[in-house]
Amino acid sequence: MMKLTYMLSPTTFYVMHTQTSNILSHNLLRDNRIDVSFNLSILSLCMDIINEKDSIIERMSDHPLDILLKKASPNYFKIVGAPYSTRTGFFEKILPTIKTEIVLITCWNIYCIPFIKFLLNSGKKVVMGGSFCNSYPIKFIRSLLGDPDNLIVVSGYVGVQTDLHKVISDWKDVKLPETDFIDMWTAKNDHMKSYLKILSKCRRSDNTYYSITFNNNCWYNKCKFCKLREERVPDFTCAVDADRLYENIKENLITYKTKKLLVNDNYFLFSDKNREIFKNLRKDGFKIYILSGILSFNNEQYLRDFNEYVDEVGIGLESASDFSLDYITKGYKWEDIKRSIHNMAKYLDKDKNIRYLTITDLVSKDREDIVENYENMLTMKMMLNDHGFERVAFSYTPLQLFPSIDLVKDTEFMKIGRTESSSGMWYVYEHLKKYGIEVNVPEDIMMPFERYDINGNLLLSDFEYVGDLMDRIIDPV
Ligand code: SF4
Repeated sequence: MMKLTYMLSPTTFYVMHTQTSNILSHNLLRDNRIDVSFNLSILSLCMDIINEKDSIIERMSDHPLDILLKKASPNYFKIVGAPYSTRTGFFEKILPTIKTEIVLITCWNIYCIPFIKFLLNSGKKVVMGGSFCNSYPIKFIRSLLGDPDNLIVVSGYVGVQTDLHKVISDWKDVKLPETDFIDMWTAKNDHMKSYLKILSKCRRSDNTYYSITFNNNCWYNKCKFCKLREERVPDFTCAVDADRLYENIKENLITYKTKKLLVNDNYFLFSDKNREIFKNLRKDGFKIYILSGILSFNNEQYLRDFNEYVDEVGIGLESASDFSLDYITKGYKWEDIKRSIHNMAKYLDKDKNIRYLTITDLVSKDREDIVENYENMLTMKMMLNDHGFERVAFSYTPLQLFPSIDLVKDTEFMKIGRTESSSGMWYVYEHLKKYGIEVNVPEDIMMPFERYDINGNLLLSDFEYVGDLMDRIIDPV
């Protein structure tokens, strides 16, 4: 009998995304050659983060970034929580709870890497899968982790019938063959269900989304900062009819005690199938949240569909500066953004929740351009409020440079390397040092950078120039 422990990513709890745990639990439990323990002790990390958040906040100043962080939900603190927990001895506390030599772990992003390194250094045999392994070449992942013998990297998607016993016995990196993803909507052994109590403490449950993915493809697929462009992105629903999808989603919404469904498709498009599912779910009183973009919001039919089937949207705006938009190849300009607002005023019901998702510290022409960017966003907010939309929010993500994105290949206005003037995510990390939070994210995968204007002058973070303006516009996630 092969004994192993299954662990989800330390960053699972951003939203309740249980599709992965459901399939893996089902797969491992049906195989009588495997004796699996599900270890969710990592969940208590959420509580650590929440507890630590309060004490950090007490020490915070009136720096614009602090003001935003004070308003941030515990979920935001999770962004730094997983790496800095290495310092607080959290991983050492987890180790005795892992009773087997083999640990299978779903890795979602770079924040799982320090934990996987820790497991490897502790002598565990680690089977690493998850979307991170689909985003980067196996060779790169191995080099990131020091190419140890006690690691195998599994890329591709696990189905209920995938022979994980063989994969582990072979102990070789592997790319799994395609599955039809039907299992994703029928498997019923999600082991996270038993941890609902902890989950609801870690989150404000009434404010939590149950998250699913129909199709992670992006029809636009040109933005230079976007990590998803390289990934093969399957349609998880093509082999399943609308009724079965509806039943599965409804059951999970009830199980996870939430009224809110986040459809995590990167750039949502309507289809007959998803219209039918949404119609039924809304009839049952559930709210639907999608992710979309400015280009779709300039399409009348899209807005009419939105009115009928959707309650909330996150619009990937990124910036309202023509220079920055052009630099990242977003495909629209400030004029198009204003036009989308006119269309929304014309076609959209005023009670919809609209959240613009922006990126701080994108490459900018100069300091004036940075100011203009946030002034434009303020104009957007005021225009929408004047048109009667009261629920308009802007949230931000600091620019994150991953090695696989096109922005890294085009660093005319950036210098890679960590300094006291680093922008983007490393600006946040540098700032958090003041509160004793040391981030251990590897620099070869979250690359620090300085940015420069078109005349070669160093530009600091947006927070240093327009903090007050940002505070008027931006709400944290
Ligand atoms: S950022 Fe959004 S719109 Fe751009 S390529 Fe990525 S998923 Fe598509």
